[in-house]
Amino acid sequence: MKTILAKVDLSQPDSAEVIQTAAKILQEGGLVAFPTETVYGLGGNGLDSAACEKIYLAKGRPSDNPLILHISEFEELNPIVGEISPAAKKLMDAFWPGPLTMVFPKSEIVPEKATGGLDTVAVRFPSHPVARAIIRAAGLPIAAPSANSSGKPSPTSAKHVFDDMDGRIRLIIDGGESDVGLESTVISLVGEKPCILRPGGVTKAMLEEVIGPVDLAGSILRPLEKGEKALSPGMMYKHYSPDGQVTLIEGEESAVVEALRRLYTDADSEGHRACVMCFTEHVEALADCHPHDIGHKEDASEVAHRLFATLRDLDDEKMDVIFSEVVPPEGVGLAVMNRLGRAGAFRTVNAEEIIRI
Ligand code: AMP
Ligand code: MG
Repeated sequence: MKTILAKVDLSQPDSAEVIQTAAKILQEGGLVAFPTETVYGLGGNGLDSAACEKIYLAKGRPSDNPLILHISEFEELNPIVGEISPAAKKLMDAFWPGPLTMVFPKSEIVPEKATGGLDTVAVRFPSHPVARAIIRAAGLPIAAPSANSSGKPSPTSAKHVFDDMDGRIRLIIDGGESDVGLESTVISLVGEKPCILRPGGVTKAMLEEVIGPVDLAGSILRPLEKGEKALSPGMMYKHYSPDGQVTLIEGEESAVVEALRRLYTDADSEGHRACVMCFTEHVEALADCHPHDIGHKEDASEVAHRLFATLRDLDDEKMDVIFSEVVPPEGVGLAVMNRLGRAGAFRTVNAEEIIRI
């Protein structure tokens, strides 16, 4: 299959034609990748089992890992869900359109292919104008998981999508870099208490301000234990993973910088293709350690924005040993550490212990 890459700038008159082409492909059951404010999505008709099947195939995604349906107007929610609770209404008012996905009981028109066999459905109303224009033009709820091959870091640019999806889908819409850079926050509203299944740009504190106490799924900052059932099926799988081994370094700032230097030096002398992922403030001190700048240390949103692109660069550079700084797991930092932790199978060492050796 030939994959077409098309730039869209909604301020230009020719963008309408590209949006119509995308809509037509979706209506015919084909796949189109498009930008959203979180990461790039791989879109297909969310009401068509065959289109959903194509998404799983293109991504190499396990079929029990459900898709998120994307809408472009509030009115499009009713037909695809069962009951909408008062808490869900409040969250919709506060955060939609935006990077929040809510899990509802599903309605009959949503095929089990879209929900991985579950009787619930995850829905998001994205704010990105290109995503909204495509969904509106298609006139369908669009199933759109991240447009990466399963197990790779999510794509935050059209080039990332092309690297993974060339030859597998008909069209990739290039709308520039994704703003947030991490996938949406997923909150379930079907249990007794609202529960965050996946942290993202909409933080626990922001949610609690609107609906009161919410739970956090247990496996956000650790691997699932043997026999533990994932509340969010995506958490079962190795995810967000570069080819190299990522190790996280915790501890006091100066100890971390010193530990990064020692670990890098040892790995380099053993013949590894090694590097460090460090804050902007430490790039100079680690200039000899192949530094990758992940953003300023006090700015978790900047780290979120850069994280996946950095992980992909490490693959392009064929790095096999990677040492990374960490952010405090609070606010957006919780989402960063969920992804970074999973990129390295939660392998963490303490800086002071490295320096003591
Ligand atoms: P992605 O579309 O790749 O960002 O992943 C979507 C994620 O949302 C899945 O991996 C699940 O963890 C979560 N999700 C989607 N639908 C449901 C659902 N019905 N119940 C619980 N989690 C869901
Ligand atoms: Mg994904």
